[in-house]
Amino acid sequence: MIKDNVRSFLSAMPKKNGYGEDITLLAAVKTQTPAAINEAIEAGVKVIGDNHAQEFRDKFDQINKDAQRHFIGRLQTNKIKYLLGRVDLYQSIDSLHIAQTLSDKSTSFGIVSNILLEINGGDEKSKGGFALKDAEKAFKDISSLPGVKICGLMAMFPATDDEKLIFRLASDVRKTYDELKAEDENITTLSMGMSGDWKVCVDAGSNMIRIGTALFGKRS
Ligand SMILES: *Cc1c(COP(=O)(O)O)cnc(C)c1O
Repeated sequence: MIKDNVRSFLSAMPKKNGYGEDITLLAAVKTQTPAAINEAIEAGVKVIGDNHAQEFRDKFDQINKDAQRHFIGRLQTNKIKYLLGRVDLYQSIDSLHIAQTLSDKSTSFGIVSNILLEINGGDEKSKGGFALKDAEKAFKDISSLPGVKICGLMAMFPATDDEKLIFRLASDVRKTYDELKAEDENITTLSMGMSGDWKVCVDAGSNMIRIGTALFGKRS
C-alpha cells in the first residue's frame, strides 16, 4: 500500500517548479516503523524526515542507507546529542539560541551541521519559527556561527482551505529566500508544503515538500 502511494505520488508530482528547480519529496515518517519507512524508500523516496530525536536515533540503523535523513521536529538542546552526526539537514532551526547550541555541539563533535531556518509563515502563536520579517537578521547572526551551514528556509503555514492565503504567504517566503540566495550560494533549499497544501506551495516556488499522510495514511 505504501509502495503504491509513493509511486503514484511521485508520478503525479511535478518534477520541477516554476523556477526550473527540481522538486524533492521528503517523506515525513513520524510514528512509522522502520519497515514502513524502508518500503517508502524502496518505492523511490530519497529523503526522509523525522520529528522525534530519540526515535530518530533508535531507528537509525534499521533504515535503508540510500535515503538522506532530515530532522523536521522542534529541536530541544538536551536532545541534540541523539542527532549529532546522524542528520543530513536540520530543517527546523527556530531560534538563535538553538542555532548557537547546535553550532557549539557540532564544533565539539568535529562537524559542521547543515540547517534550514524555520519560518512561521502565518505568524501563528501556536507555531515555532522566525517571523519572516526577522529572517534576514537571523540569517546574518546565524551565518557567523562556525558549526552550522545555512542551506535555505523551511516554512509552516496555517491549516486552512484558503489557498489564496497560503499562496500569498508562501510567495512572501519565496521572495525572502531569493534575497538570501542572492547573497549566499549555499542557499538551495526551500522546504514548504505538506499533504494538504503542497500544490499551492509548489506554485509559489517551493523546491522541497514534506509529505506524511498522503504516503502513509492518517496517523493514529
Ligand atoms: C508531519 C509533518 C509533515 C507532514 O504532514 P502531513 O500533513 O502528514 O503530510 C510535514 N512537516 C512537518 C514539520 C511535520 O511534522
